[in-house]
Amino acid sequence: MYYIGNHLSSSGGYVAMLDTALKLGANTFAFFTRNPRGGKAKEIDKEDVQKFLLKARENNFGKIVAHAPYTMNLCSAKEDVREFSKNIIADDIKRMEYIPKNYYNFHPGAHIGQGVKKGIEIIANVLNDVLSPEQTTIVLLETMSGKGTEIGKSFEELREIIDKVELKDKIGVCLDTCHIWDGGYDIVNNLDGVISEFDKVIGLDKLYAVHFNDSKNECGSHKDRHEKIGNGKIGFEAMKNFALHPAFLGLPFILETPNDMAGYAKEIAMFKDWIKK
Ligand code: FE
Ligand code: FE
Ligand code: ZN
Repeated sequence: MYYIGNHLSSSGGYVAMLDTALKLGANTFAFFTRNPRGGKAKEIDKEDVQKFLLKARENNFGKIVAHAPYTMNLCSAKEDVREFSKNIIADDIKRMEYIPKNYYNFHPGAHIGQGVKKGIEIIANVLNDVLSPEQTTIVLLETMSGKGTEIGKSFEELREIIDKVELKDKIGVCLDTCHIWDGGYDIVNNLDGVISEFDKVIGLDKLYAVHFNDSKNECGSHKDRHEKIGNGKIGFEAMKNFALHPAFLGLPFILETPNDMAGYAKEIAMFKDWIKK
């Protein structure tokens, strides 16, 4: 089974997102748990959630991949930002229980000059404070491009965070194809090598979701600019090979490409066409 979808606006609630996803031909989707730049989350509409859960099941939807806001930086050098970020992730994890057994993905953080080691330590400490054995959500660290002082630009950095997290079954990885390419992993010429590197360093059993994006820039550019599938430097063939690789079978693939809804529908149809053959 394959799961494909794209990032959607959450402003209309869960049922609205599901209806949009259905229209686009998707069977999963992603959304921001709150304004990507702001703080406060909307009140949960329990009726909307119940309808959504039913309808998602009826339509055989896969795991949904919620995305934390960009303003969240668990390892900021500023204490008030760290505090704010910890409150957001704690609150988001609580809210995710309204749609149990899905995924919550976040950018590990930017250390802002404190150093990678210190950043990793802070991130892991926060995770150990906010994760609980009762939660059904798996929290995913996103692979990053290494822009600025971003942590998570190498598989080793993510592995170090996971190593320090006590509740191992609540933590995993979301692989962003644009980010690992920009981070220096050559999925065009050496896809198998990159996958076995991931397996060796982190373990493929820790991979729960894929952000499926082409990139505007060269491998190792550390830029993080997404491109439409096939229009970027990764290119059509390599994106297709990635999608069809057995290592990713059954994972939710989320498009975060610069598209309008018609563009997403096209990419979803293209993806489904690859899988069929
Ligand atoms: Fe992201
Ligand atoms: Fe992403
Ligand atoms: Zn990105």
